[in-house]
Amino acid sequence: MKVLIDRETVERRIGELAVEIAADYLEAPLFVGILTGAAQFMMALIDRLPEEMLAKLDYDFVDVSSYQGTENTGQVVLVKDLTIAVEGRDVLVIDGIVDTGRSLDFVLDMICTRRPHSLKTCALLDKSARRALQVPVDYCGFEIEDAFVVGYGMDYDQRYRALHHIAIIE
Ligand code: 5GP
Ligand code: MG
Repeated sequence: MKVLIDRETVERRIGELAVEIAADYLEAPLFVGILTGAAQFMMALIDRLPEEMLAKLDYDFVDVSSYQGTENTGQVVLVKDLTIAVEGRDVLVIDGIVDTGRSLDFVLDMICTRRPHSLKTCALLDKSARRALQVPVDYCGFEIEDAFVVGYGMDYDQRYRALHHIAIIE
C-alpha cells in the first residue's frame, strides 16, 4: 500500500471544507451521508463546523450498494432509506468518493422527488475522469487519479476503512 494523501493533508482539507460549508448554510441544514464510505468523513466534517452551527444541524444516512465483494456491478440498489423527511430542507449529500457517479446520482434522484428546498453534494474524493453520469460535486476534498483507494471510510472488501490517510492498493 502506498500513501496517496497523508493524515495532515486530509484533516487540513476537511477543515477548509467545513469553513466553506458553514458560510453557505445559514439555515438549518440536513446532512445525508452515504454509508458506509461517508461515515468517517461526515463525522470529521461535523467536528470541524463552528459550534453555533451544531444546534441547527441534522444528519442522517442512506445506504446504497453497487458492489458485490470487490466487484462493481454498475447496478445501484437502495439498502437503507433515510429516517428524516427531506421536504423543504437544505440537504447536503455527502459521500466518501465519487467514481462513475451512479451512486450519487441515484441518491440525488431519490431525494429530489421528495422536494427538498435545496440539494447539494460534498465528496472527500472525486475521480472525475471516471464519470459515467454527470453529477455535480459542489464541495470536493480532492480530485484524484484513477486508482483504487482505501482509508478514511473507503474499503477494500470491508478492510482498511479506519485509516486516517488515503492509500492506494497496489
Ligand atoms: P460510483 O457509484 O460513483 O461509481 O461509486 C461510488 C462508490 O463506489 C463509492 O461510494 C465507493 O463505495 C465505491 N468506490 C468507487 N471508487 C472507489 C475506490 O477507489 N475505492 C473504494 N474503496 N471504493 C470506491
Ligand atoms: Mg459507497
